[in-house]
Amino acid sequence: MCLDIDDTLIDFSYASKRALSLLIGRADMWPLWERITDWHVARVVAGEIDYAVMHQRRTQCFLAEMGVVMDPEDVARFECRRKEVLRGSWRLFHDVLPCLEWLRAADVRIAAVTNASGAHQRTKLADLGLSRFFDHIAIAGEVGAAKPDAVMFHSVCAVLDCDPCEAAHVGDKLHTDAVGARDAGLEGVWLDRDGGDAEVPEGVHVIGGLDELPQLLVSEFARIGVPAQR
Ligand SMILES: [Mg+2]
Repeated sequence: MCLDIDDTLIDFSYASKRALSLLIGRADMWPLWERITDWHVARVVAGEIDYAVMHQRRTQCFLAEMGVVMDPEDVARFECRRKEVLRGSWRLFHDVLPCLEWLRAADVRIAAVTNASGAHQRTKLADLGLSRFFDHIAIAGEVGAAKPDAVMFHSVCAVLDCDPCEAAHVGDKLHTDAVGARDAGLEGVWLDRDGGDAEVPEGVHVIGGLDELPQLLVSEFARIGVPAQR
């Protein structure tokens, strides 16, 4: 069982919004921050820049859009402070621990699969006491590929010693997580916590919370190795 981290296990959007609004003293700039982040993450995924450069440039670009011109040292200080506040704002969704405990009890091997950067993601999982649940933590920057690239999913299956058809991946991003996993031959599960009305592509499963995952595993994914009777 592969699980995305940000906005799947950890309420990343809440923490990021909180950190940004505390630093700039206003709460209405999140859409701009998200837009600028998406542009810069696309450049990381394309292999043009690494995450450290991305964080600096994203923040510089965001401040410039707000009309604030800072020299690189001040941008670095702002970014450093933002990460400190962010780290104090992590919280798990309420359904994460019961789900991970259920998977462990059912003897399912578990991987965290993230497109974000290494040290940062491991710190988050450790800070929240989640490291112990995972057999493997797959980080895009270390694998050299990122979701939705099949290479990312297949590398995880290789480590977990299973065929893609014996694995499932759950994440909050419909295309990056669920469609990417489906196209790589895994079961793709979209975690739609907001319950929107997006059209769901064929072959993609949808759950509204991680509390629905055990039932899906038992009823639909018997080949993943979850005992039907518990
Ligand atoms: Mg996510």
